[in-house]
Amino acid sequence: MQRIGLGWDLHRLKAGRRLILGGVEIPSDFGEDAHSDGDVLTHALIDALLGAAALGDIGALFPSSDPSYKDADSICLLKTAFAKVRAAGYKIVNIDSVVALQKPAVLPYRSAIIKSLSAALQVDEAAIFVKAKTGEALGDVGQSKAIWAQAICLLETL
Ligand code: MG
Repeated sequence: MQRIGLGWDLHRLKAGRRLILGGVEIPSDFGEDAHSDGDVLTHALIDALLGAAALGDIGALFPSSDPSYKDADSICLLKTAFAKVRAAGYKIVNIDSVVALQKPAVLPYRSAIIKSLSAALQVDEAAIFVKAKTGEALGDVGQSKAIWAQAICLLETL
């Protein structure tokens, strides 16, 4: 059996915060403002995986009210979430994703992000793709006030 899952996340951008996408730090004057490390792509991916397996969502699994998740490494959260998905009897067929950020450019870091996510999930790099858009200078993304990411994944029963 195959099941599809969708995830979306948005964070404010704040000066002096680190910009982390898929576990990769991208040099930037501003980064995601969040309780955790704010890795918006990894958060969207966690929700896609959990949603595909009908196992809840990131907020239920890792409540931001829990102080232990302050500045949490989102790749660790991804590993924990995927362990639940695997324990429920699923493997990953493929993942696709898109990040919307006005600047800096994300594409120079695409292969590093894919490597990082593939290592965290123990799947082939060919099973993961990451795309990037700007905000066309419009709205909160275009004015560098926010970043968002979407992820979709296909799971298959083991
Ligand atoms: Mg988030």
